[in-house]
Amino acid sequence: MKTYRIACIPGDGIGKEVVPAGETVLRALSEAGAGFRFEFTSFDWGGDYYRRHGKMMPDDGLDALRSMDAILFGSAGDPDIPDHITLWGLRLKICQGFDQYANVRPTRILPGIDAPLKRCTPADLDWVIVRENSEGEYSGVGGRAHQGHPIEVATDVSMMTRAGVERILRFAFRLAQSRPRRQLTVVTKSNAQRHAMVMWDEIAVQVSREFPDVAWDKELVDACTARMVNRPASLDTLVATNLHADILSDLAAALAGSLGIAPTGNIDPERRYPSMFEPIHGSAFDIMGQGLANPVGTFWSCVMLLEHLGEQEAASRLMRVIESVTADTGLHTRDLGGTARTAQVTEAVCRRLRS
Ligand code: ATP
Ligand code: MG
Repeated sequence: MKTYRIACIPGDGIGKEVVPAGETVLRALSEAGAGFRFEFTSFDWGGDYYRRHGKMMPDDGLDALRSMDAILFGSAGDPDIPDHITLWGLRLKICQGFDQYANVRPTRILPGIDAPLKRCTPADLDWVIVRENSEGEYSGVGGRAHQGHPIEVATDVSMMTRAGVERILRFAFRLAQSRPRRQLTVVTKSNAQRHAMVMWDEIAVQVSREFPDVAWDKELVDACTARMVNRPASLDTLVATNLHADILSDLAAALAGSLGIAPTGNIDPERRYPSMFEPIHGSAFDIMGQGLANPVGTFWSCVMLLEHLGEQEAASRLMRVIESVTADTGLHTRDLGGTARTAQVTEAVCRRLRS
Protein backbone atom coordinates (compact mmCIF):
# COMPACT_ATOMS: atom_id res chain seq x y z
CA MET A 1 0.00 0.00 0.00
CA LYS A 2 1.28 3.47 -0.83
CA THR A 3 2.70 5.30 2.18
CA TYR A 4 2.96 9.09 2.25
CA ARG A 5 5.52 10.67 4.55
CA ILE A 6 4.04 13.75 6.19
CA ALA A 7 5.98 16.21 8.36
CA CYS A 8 3.88 17.77 11.12
CA ILE A 9 5.04 21.12 12.47
CA PRO A 10 2.49 22.32 15.03
CA GLY A 11 4.57 25.43 15.89
CA ASP A 12 3.02 27.76 18.47
CA GLY A 13 -0.24 28.54 20.23
CA ILE A 14 -3.29 26.76 18.87
CA GLY A 15 -1.08 25.19 16.17
CA LYS A 16 -0.29 22.63 18.87
CA GLU A 17 -3.99 21.74 19.05
CA VAL A 18 -5.12 21.89 15.44
CA VAL A 19 -2.19 20.07 13.82
CA PRO A 20 -2.58 16.94 15.99
CA ALA A 21 -6.31 17.13 15.18
CA GLY A 22 -5.43 17.20 11.47
CA GLU A 23 -3.14 14.22 11.94
CA THR A 24 -5.95 12.32 13.69
CA VAL A 25 -8.34 13.03 10.83
CA LEU A 26 -5.84 11.99 8.15
CA ARG A 27 -5.15 8.79 10.07
CA ALA A 28 -8.90 8.08 10.35
CA LEU A 29 -9.23 8.63 6.61
CA SER A 30 -6.50 6.10 5.80
CA GLU A 31 -7.96 3.60 8.30
CA ALA A 32 -11.36 4.00 6.68
CA GLY A 33 -10.08 2.33 3.54
CA ALA A 34 -8.69 5.21 1.50
CA GLY A 35 -6.16 2.85 -0.06
CA PHE A 36 -3.02 4.56 1.25
CA ARG A 37 -1.22 5.13 4.53
CA PHE A 38 0.53 8.00 6.24
CA GLU A 39 3.77 8.03 8.13
CA PHE A 40 3.84 11.14 10.32
CA THR A 41 6.97 12.75 11.72
CA SER A 42 6.52 15.61 14.19
CA PHE A 43 8.94 18.49 14.66
CA ASP A 44 8.84 20.57 17.86
CA TRP A 45 10.03 23.78 16.20
CA GLY A 46 8.70 27.20 17.19
CA GLY A 47 8.73 29.53 20.18
CA ASP A 48 9.61 26.91 22.81
CA TYR A 49 12.43 25.60 20.63
CA TYR A 50 13.65 29.20 20.32
CA ARG A 51 13.78 29.62 24.10
CA ARG A 52 15.98 26.51 24.36
CA HIS A 53 18.17 26.95 21.30
CA GLY A 54 18.04 30.63 20.30
CA LYS A 55 16.50 29.77 16.92
CA MET A 56 13.08 28.69 15.71
CA MET A 57 14.32 25.56 13.95
CA PRO A 58 17.69 23.82 13.58
CA ASP A 59 20.08 25.03 10.87
CA ASP A 60 19.78 21.72 9.03
CA GLY A 61 15.98 21.61 9.53
CA LEU A 62 15.18 21.84 5.83
CA ASP A 63 17.22 18.68 5.21
CA ALA A 64 14.96 16.76 7.60
CA LEU A 65 11.93 17.89 5.58
CA ARG A 66 13.32 17.52 2.07
CA SER A 67 12.29 13.90 1.51
CA MET A 68 8.75 14.34 2.88
CA ASP A 69 5.73 14.14 0.57
CA ALA A 70 4.11 17.14 2.26
CA ILE A 71 4.20 19.31 5.37
CA LEU A 72 1.27 20.06 7.68
CA PHE A 73 1.98 23.31 9.51
CA GLY A 74 0.22 25.02 12.44
CA SER A 75 1.34 28.53 13.18
CA ALA A 76 4.43 30.52 14.16
CA GLY A 77 3.97 33.29 16.68
CA ASP A 78 4.82 33.88 20.32
CA PRO A 79 3.94 36.84 22.54
CA ASP A 80 7.50 36.90 23.97
CA ILE A 81 9.34 36.77 20.64
CA PRO A 82 9.21 39.52 17.98
CA ASP A 83 6.98 38.54 15.06
CA HIS A 84 9.69 39.03 12.44
CA ILE A 85 11.82 36.39 14.25
CA THR A 86 9.04 33.80 14.54
CA LEU A 87 7.90 34.36 10.97
CA TRP A 88 11.27 34.55 9.22
CA GLY A 89 12.84 31.92 11.47
CA LEU A 90 10.36 29.18 10.64
CA ARG A 91 7.46 29.61 8.25
CA LEU A 92 9.14 31.86 5.72
CA LYS A 93 12.36 29.89 6.03
CA ILE A 94 10.50 26.80 4.84
CA CYS A 95 8.49 28.67 2.17
CA GLN A 96 11.63 30.28 0.75
CA GLY A 97 13.92 27.29 1.27
CA PHE A 98 11.56 25.09 -0.71
CA ASP A 99 10.62 27.81 -3.20
CA GLN A 100 6.91 27.41 -2.42
CA TYR A 101 6.18 30.42 -4.58
CA ALA A 102 2.44 29.90 -5.00
CA ASN A 103 0.26 30.40 -1.95
CA VAL A 104 -3.23 29.13 -2.76
CA ARG A 105 -6.15 30.26 -0.63
CA PRO A 106 -9.63 28.95 -1.40
CA THR A 107 -12.62 30.70 0.15
CA ARG A 108 -16.17 29.43 0.25
CA ILE A 109 -19.09 29.81 2.61
CA LEU A 110 -19.42 26.29 3.99
CA PRO A 111 -22.89 24.91 4.82
CA GLY A 112 -24.25 26.08 8.16
CA ILE A 113 -21.87 29.03 8.48
CA ASP A 114 -23.40 32.39 9.29
CA ALA A 115 -21.36 34.68 7.03
CA PRO A 116 -21.56 38.46 7.47
CA LEU A 117 -22.67 39.41 3.93
CA LYS A 118 -26.42 39.10 4.16
CA ARG A 119 -27.06 39.73 0.47
CA CYS A 120 -24.65 36.99 -0.54
CA THR A 121 -25.50 33.32 -0.97
CA PRO A 122 -22.87 30.57 -0.77
CA ALA A 123 -23.10 30.29 -4.56
CA ASP A 124 -21.98 33.93 -4.88
CA LEU A 125 -18.76 33.44 -2.98
CA ASP A 126 -16.43 30.78 -4.34
CA TRP A 127 -12.95 32.20 -4.74
CA VAL A 128 -9.36 31.08 -4.87
CA ILE A 129 -6.78 33.73 -4.11
CA VAL A 130 -3.29 33.04 -5.42
CA ARG A 131 -0.67 34.87 -3.41
CA GLU A 132 2.85 35.42 -4.69
CA ASN A 133 4.86 33.82 -1.93
CA SER A 134 8.53 34.37 -2.67
CA GLU A 135 9.28 38.04 -3.37
CA GLY A 136 7.51 41.39 -3.61
CA GLU A 137 6.90 43.35 -0.43
CA TYR A 138 8.12 40.48 1.74
CA SER A 139 11.42 39.97 -0.05
CA GLY A 140 13.30 41.00 3.08
CA VAL A 141 15.34 43.53 1.12
CA GLY A 142 15.77 46.87 2.84
CA GLY A 143 17.43 48.30 5.86
CA ARG A 144 17.69 50.98 8.48
CA ALA A 145 20.23 53.74 8.83
CA HIS A 146 20.84 56.18 11.69
CA GLN A 147 18.78 53.95 13.98
CA GLY A 148 17.12 55.82 16.84
CA HIS A 149 18.14 59.26 15.53
CA PRO A 150 15.72 61.87 14.23
CA ILE A 151 17.14 61.38 10.74
CA GLU A 152 16.55 57.61 10.77
CA VAL A 153 15.58 56.07 7.43
CA ALA A 154 14.04 52.63 7.00
CA THR A 155 13.13 50.90 3.76
CA ASP A 156 11.39 47.71 2.71
CA VAL A 157 12.05 47.19 -0.94
CA SER A 158 9.26 45.49 -2.85
CA MET A 159 11.39 43.48 -5.20
CA MET A 160 9.78 41.79 -8.20
CA THR A 161 11.59 39.82 -10.83
CA ARG A 162 10.27 39.15 -14.32
CA ALA A 163 10.79 35.42 -13.76
CA GLY A 164 8.98 35.53 -10.40
CA VAL A 165 6.00 37.45 -11.76
CA GLU A 166 5.77 35.33 -14.87
CA ARG A 167 5.70 32.05 -12.96
CA ILE A 168 3.02 33.15 -10.46
CA LEU A 169 0.82 34.60 -13.20
CA ARG A 170 1.19 31.46 -15.29
CA PHE A 171 0.28 29.37 -12.21
CA ALA A 172 -2.80 31.54 -11.62
CA PHE A 173 -3.97 31.37 -15.24
CA ARG A 174 -3.54 27.58 -15.18
CA LEU A 175 -5.51 27.31 -11.91
CA ALA A 176 -8.25 29.56 -13.29
CA GLN A 177 -8.38 27.39 -16.41
CA SER A 178 -8.97 24.29 -14.25
CA ARG A 179 -12.00 25.82 -12.51
CA PRO A 180 -15.50 25.79 -14.00
CA ARG A 181 -15.77 29.54 -14.64
CA ARG A 182 -12.29 29.92 -16.20
CA GLN A 183 -12.02 33.44 -14.90
CA LEU A 184 -9.06 35.33 -13.43
CA THR A 185 -8.73 38.76 -11.85
CA VAL A 186 -5.19 40.13 -11.75
CA VAL A 187 -4.94 42.50 -8.78
CA THR A 188 -2.28 45.21 -8.68
CA LYS A 189 -1.78 48.82 -7.63
CA SER A 190 -0.26 49.98 -10.86
CA ASN A 191 -1.79 53.44 -10.69
CA ALA A 192 0.36 54.35 -7.68
CA GLN A 193 3.25 51.87 -7.68
CA ARG A 194 4.78 52.81 -10.97
CA HIS A 195 7.47 50.25 -11.58
CA ALA A 196 6.96 46.67 -10.41
CA MET A 197 3.17 46.84 -10.60
CA VAL A 198 3.27 48.18 -14.15
CA MET A 199 5.54 45.26 -15.00
CA TRP A 200 2.89 42.89 -13.50
CA ASP A 201 0.26 44.39 -15.79
CA GLU A 202 2.51 43.99 -18.82
CA ILE A 203 3.42 40.40 -17.99
CA ALA A 204 -0.25 39.57 -17.37
CA VAL A 205 -1.10 40.65 -20.91
CA GLN A 206 1.76 38.55 -22.21
CA VAL A 207 0.96 35.38 -20.20
CA SER A 208 -2.77 35.70 -20.95
CA ARG A 209 -2.02 34.94 -24.62
CA GLU A 210 -1.13 31.38 -23.57
CA PHE A 211 -4.64 31.01 -22.09
CA PRO A 212 -7.14 32.21 -24.67
CA ASP A 213 -9.92 30.24 -22.93
CA VAL A 214 -9.52 32.15 -19.64
CA ALA A 215 -11.54 35.37 -19.28
CA TRP A 216 -9.46 37.81 -17.26
CA ASP A 217 -9.58 41.34 -15.97
CA LYS A 218 -7.43 43.75 -14.00
CA GLU A 219 -8.42 45.31 -10.70
CA LEU A 220 -6.70 47.72 -8.31
CA VAL A 221 -6.31 46.26 -4.85
CA ASP A 222 -8.30 48.98 -3.08
CA ALA A 223 -11.19 48.65 -5.55
CA CYS A 224 -10.92 44.89 -5.16
CA THR A 225 -11.76 45.02 -1.44
CA ALA A 226 -14.97 46.90 -2.23
CA ARG A 227 -15.78 44.50 -5.06
CA MET A 228 -15.36 41.50 -2.76
CA VAL A 229 -18.04 42.97 -0.48
CA ASN A 230 -20.38 44.49 -3.08
CA ARG A 231 -20.11 42.06 -6.01
CA PRO A 232 -18.66 38.79 -4.70
CA ALA A 233 -20.13 36.77 -7.56
CA SER A 234 -18.10 38.78 -10.08
CA LEU A 235 -14.89 37.15 -8.80
CA ASP A 236 -13.56 33.61 -9.13
CA THR A 237 -9.76 33.17 -9.20
CA LEU A 238 -7.64 36.12 -8.09
CA VAL A 239 -3.89 36.63 -8.17
CA ALA A 240 -2.02 39.32 -6.26
CA THR A 241 1.33 40.19 -4.72
CA ASN A 242 2.55 38.87 -1.40
CA LEU A 243 1.27 41.81 0.67
CA HIS A 244 -1.90 42.54 -1.28
CA ALA A 245 -3.02 38.91 -1.29
CA ASP A 246 -2.18 38.59 2.41
CA ILE A 247 -4.68 41.36 3.16
CA LEU A 248 -7.30 40.24 0.61
CA SER A 249 -7.29 36.69 1.95
CA ASP A 250 -7.93 37.79 5.54
CA LEU A 251 -10.88 39.79 4.22
CA ALA A 252 -12.00 36.75 2.23
CA ALA A 253 -11.77 34.51 5.31
CA ALA A 254 -13.82 36.95 7.38
CA LEU A 255 -16.46 37.24 4.63
CA ALA A 256 -16.73 33.45 4.62
CA GLY A 257 -17.53 33.44 8.33
CA SER A 258 -14.36 32.91 10.36
CA LEU A 259 -10.58 33.01 10.25
CA GLY A 260 -10.72 29.59 11.90
CA ILE A 261 -12.07 27.91 8.76
CA ALA A 262 -9.76 29.15 6.03
CA PRO A 263 -7.06 26.86 4.60
CA THR A 264 -3.98 27.49 2.52
CA GLY A 265 -1.29 25.66 0.61
CA ASN A 266 2.25 26.90 0.04
CA ILE A 267 2.95 25.13 -3.20
CA ASP A 268 6.05 24.36 -5.18
CA PRO A 269 4.24 23.73 -8.49
CA GLU A 270 7.36 22.14 -9.99
CA ARG A 271 7.39 19.57 -7.17
CA ARG A 272 11.12 19.84 -6.54
CA TYR A 273 10.42 20.16 -2.80
CA PRO A 274 7.60 19.29 -0.39
CA SER A 275 4.69 21.73 -0.32
CA MET A 276 3.26 22.97 2.97
CA PHE A 277 -0.38 23.17 4.07
CA GLU A 278 -1.71 25.22 6.99
CA PRO A 279 -4.75 27.04 8.32
CA ILE A 280 -4.44 30.77 7.59
CA HIS A 281 -5.04 31.77 11.20
CA GLY A 282 -2.16 32.48 13.54
CA SER A 283 -1.22 31.22 16.98
CA ALA A 284 -4.24 32.84 18.73
CA PHE A 285 -2.65 32.90 22.19
CA ASP A 286 -5.87 34.23 23.71
CA ILE A 287 -7.52 30.83 23.36
CA MET A 288 -4.55 28.45 23.34
CA GLY A 289 -4.51 25.35 25.50
CA GLN A 290 -8.24 25.55 26.20
CA GLY A 291 -9.54 23.19 23.55
CA LEU A 292 -11.50 26.01 21.91
CA ALA A 293 -9.65 26.26 18.60
CA ASN A 294 -11.66 25.61 15.47
CA PRO A 295 -9.84 22.78 13.64
CA VAL A 296 -11.82 23.18 10.39
CA GLY A 297 -9.17 25.39 8.75
CA THR A 298 -6.62 22.65 9.36
CA PHE A 299 -8.97 19.91 8.10
CA TRP A 300 -9.63 21.88 4.92
CA SER A 301 -5.84 22.31 4.58
CA CYS A 302 -5.63 18.50 4.80
CA VAL A 303 -8.04 18.36 1.84
CA MET A 304 -5.63 20.55 -0.12
CA LEU A 305 -2.74 18.32 0.98
CA LEU A 306 -4.57 15.25 -0.33
CA GLU A 307 -5.33 17.00 -3.63
CA HIS A 308 -1.66 17.86 -3.95
CA LEU A 309 -0.75 14.20 -3.40
CA GLY A 310 -3.14 13.32 -6.22
CA GLU A 311 -5.61 11.61 -3.86
CA GLN A 312 -8.64 13.37 -5.32
CA GLU A 313 -11.20 10.84 -4.15
CA ALA A 314 -10.04 10.92 -0.53
CA ALA A 315 -9.88 14.72 -0.71
CA SER A 316 -13.50 14.97 -1.89
CA ARG A 317 -14.60 12.52 0.77
CA LEU A 318 -12.96 14.52 3.55
CA MET A 319 -14.41 17.78 2.17
CA ARG A 320 -17.94 16.30 2.14
CA VAL A 321 -17.52 15.23 5.77
CA ILE A 322 -16.19 18.68 6.76
CA GLU A 323 -19.25 20.25 5.12
CA SER A 324 -21.59 17.88 6.91
CA VAL A 325 -19.95 18.86 10.20
CA THR A 326 -20.14 22.63 9.61
CA ALA A 327 -23.80 22.18 8.60
CA ASP A 328 -24.39 20.88 12.13
CA THR A 329 -24.49 24.02 14.30
CA GLY A 330 -24.15 21.84 17.39
CA LEU A 331 -20.60 21.25 16.22
CA HIS A 332 -19.68 24.92 15.89
CA THR A 333 -16.76 26.18 17.95
CA ARG A 334 -16.82 29.50 19.79
CA ASP A 335 -15.52 31.56 16.83
CA LEU A 336 -18.67 30.46 14.97
CA GLY A 337 -20.92 31.31 17.90
CA GLY A 338 -21.16 27.74 19.21
CA THR A 339 -19.86 25.86 22.23
CA ALA A 340 -18.25 22.79 20.64
CA ARG A 341 -14.66 21.98 21.49
CA THR A 342 -11.76 21.09 19.21
CA ALA A 343 -11.92 17.44 20.27
CA GLN A 344 -15.67 17.15 19.61
CA VAL A 345 -15.34 18.48 16.07
CA THR A 346 -12.37 16.19 15.43
CA GLU A 347 -14.23 13.14 16.76
CA ALA A 348 -17.29 13.96 14.66
CA VAL A 349 -15.17 14.17 11.50
CA CYS A 350 -13.43 10.86 12.30
CA ARG A 351 -16.74 9.12 13.08
CA ARG A 352 -18.34 10.29 9.84
CA LEU A 353 -15.27 9.24 7.86
CA ARG A 354 -15.61 5.72 9.27
CA SER A 355 -19.36 5.38 8.70
P1 ATP B 1 -0.47 35.46 15.17
O1 ATP B 1 0.26 36.58 15.82
O2 ATP B 1 0.28 34.16 15.20
O3 ATP B 1 -1.00 35.82 13.82
P2 ATP B 1 -2.90 36.15 16.49
O4 ATP B 1 -2.93 36.21 17.96
O5 ATP B 1 -2.87 37.38 15.68
O6 ATP B 1 -1.75 35.15 16.05
P3 ATP B 1 -4.85 34.97 14.80
O7 ATP B 1 -4.78 33.54 14.72
O8 ATP B 1 -4.29 35.77 13.67
O9 ATP B 1 -4.21 35.34 16.16
O10 ATP B 1 -6.37 35.26 14.99
C1 ATP B 1 -6.96 36.41 15.59
C2 ATP B 1 -8.06 35.96 16.52
O11 ATP B 1 -9.04 35.15 15.87
C3 ATP B 1 -7.51 35.07 17.63
O12 ATP B 1 -7.09 35.87 18.69
C4 ATP B 1 -8.65 34.15 17.98
O13 ATP B 1 -9.46 34.68 18.97
C5 ATP B 1 -9.43 34.03 16.68
N1 ATP B 1 -9.09 32.77 15.99
C6 ATP B 1 -8.15 32.56 15.04
N2 ATP B 1 -8.09 31.29 14.65
C7 ATP B 1 -9.02 30.63 15.35
C8 ATP B 1 -9.45 29.27 15.40
N3 ATP B 1 -8.89 28.32 14.65
N4 ATP B 1 -10.44 28.95 16.25
C9 ATP B 1 -11.01 29.88 17.02
N5 ATP B 1 -10.65 31.18 17.03
C10 ATP B 1 -9.67 31.57 16.21
MG1 MG C 1 -2.55 37.46 13.37
